[in-house]
Amino acid sequence: MSEAIRYDLLLVGGSSSNLILAHRLLDLAKLSGLKISIAILEKARQFGGHIVSGAICNLQVIAKLFPDFQSQGFPHEGRVEANHLSVLGSQQRWDLPEAVIPPGFRKQGQFILTLSHVIRWLAETLQEKAKGIPNVTLDVFPGFAAHEILYKGERVIGVRASDSGQVYEDCIFAELTCFGDKGFISKDLIEKFQLRPNPQLWSVGVKEVWQIPQSLQGQVWHTLGYPVLDGSFSGGFVYGLKDNRLALGLIIGLDSKNPNLNPQQRLQEFKAHPWIQSLIAGGRLLKYGAAVIPEGGYHSLPTRFGVEGALLLGDALGVLDVGSLAGVDNAMETGYLAAGLIHDGFLKGDLRIQTDYQKAVMESAVGQNLYRSRYFREAFLENSRLLEEYLPQVCRSVDAGHPWLGSLRWGLQDPVRRGRETLRAYTLLTGRVSPSEPPPRGYVAPHAAIQADFVAPTT
Ligand SMILES: Cc1cc2nc3c(=O)[nH]c(=O)nc-3n(C[C@H](O)[C@H](O)[C@H](O)COP(=O)(O)OP(=O)(O)OC[C@H]3O[C@@H](n4cnc5c(N)ncnc54)[C@H](O)[C@@H]3O)c2cc1C
Repeated sequence: MSEAIRYDLLLVGGSSSNLILAHRLLDLAKLSGLKISIAILEKARQFGGHIVSGAICNLQVIAKLFPDFQSQGFPHEGRVEANHLSVLGSQQRWDLPEAVIPPGFRKQGQFILTLSHVIRWLAETLQEKAKGIPNVTLDVFPGFAAHEILYKGERVIGVRASDSGQVYEDCIFAELTCFGDKGFISKDLIEKFQLRPNPQLWSVGVKEVWQIPQSLQGQVWHTLGYPVLDGSFSGGFVYGLKDNRLALGLIIGLDSKNPNLNPQQRLQEFKAHPWIQSLIAGGRLLKYGAAVIPEGGYHSLPTRFGVEGALLLGDALGVLDVGSLAGVDNAMETGYLAAGLIHDGFLKGDLRIQTDYQKAVMESAVGQNLYRSRYFREAFLENSRLLEEYLPQVCRSVDAGHPWLGSLRWGLQDPVRRGRETLRAYTLLTGRVSPSEPPPRGYVAPHAAIQADFVAPTT
């Protein structure tokens, strides 16, 4: 790039949300003949190069866009054959019975992904697709990061971008800019327009991929407890991938009260657990990385999902559902929904689609699930004893070999209070709180735009 460039549509971030958006837009433009120029900026030198996530996903959006995706070479690591939610003591592991696993953690049959491979596949197939649609111009700029949003008055008109060596710097102008960047640049938009009345809650995911002697493909564990037993919100994951590889890691809330919490150190302790040792013994570390995860969900959503000239998607918007760790599916859905509105907006010459986009997202399964999980994080913030006292007690019982008995003994120590606390936690975790109940901890009630339009789920 060497001088100011103009496009109809600018996508900031080669993310799952933006790439799905672009795929659907191309499909629609192919049918309608819409003439459109699109640019995609991705700060990594290769699409997927900065993606850490290994993910369990439904892939309902992929199935809508590519009905025969399995035969088209879509990269996945197999399906979940054995799904576990486990409590770790420092020595032992206890798999919870299927009946008590919360619905959001029942992943049987879902797809296991290495997301960076999926991103690369989406980018490559997108560029191939564009070659067959003469009315579409698609330019991709891997290795270019947006570092400043450009405004004309209150309207977003593009971004200033530079390559990773910062040799080139250019303004890229567009009629519409979509931010699917996890928030590194879109947070400036959110702050300028004061779009987020309640703060975002961030976690960090630290992860490693191992080559192991045996195949564990399709085996999935989500874990609670050891090695984070200081009251911090956290959990572990172990995913069996194809070709004798294993992804493992921890997700730890950055709102932890423990100033000495070191996620990388805790990951080493996690790996030292006898059970993890039995999985990786004789293996070899292939890759490692860390990335932040926005977990605030419903209460951290912005008041508006876009401003004049711009839309927010995926993690930049904040649609990850912490109750089921569904970030990828939800991000993809925002891209899918945005594409239809953007296509029609360009056809009509009217890009005031922000309100329709917000309504579409909140009325979709994404909005419904976020609403259902709206107190998931809150359950642990409201009552710190759940993680500071109850979980360590269960972990000790796991090590002692009688987890149910330990939990029962804990409950009997103060049955009224602990019964009340357990019931309250269950109510918050499952979202069965009356819609008229005021939001927690002085949070501002979710914005009027959502309340007015949004039909709360009945369950
Ligand atoms: C360890 C870990 C495990 C996870 N496990 C799961 C799981 O099991 N299931 C699940 O559904 N989700 C999981 N997630 C969450 C999931 O990865 C995210 O919710 C999802 O990837 C969000 O997609 P997105 O479209 O918002 O974009 P992102 O995946 O956040 O991608 C953003 C892209 O934008 C690029 N970018 C950022 N800033 C700029 C800029 N200024 N200019 C240009 N490009 C930029 C980045 O390089 C990146 O490629 C996990 C996350 C982590 C970290």
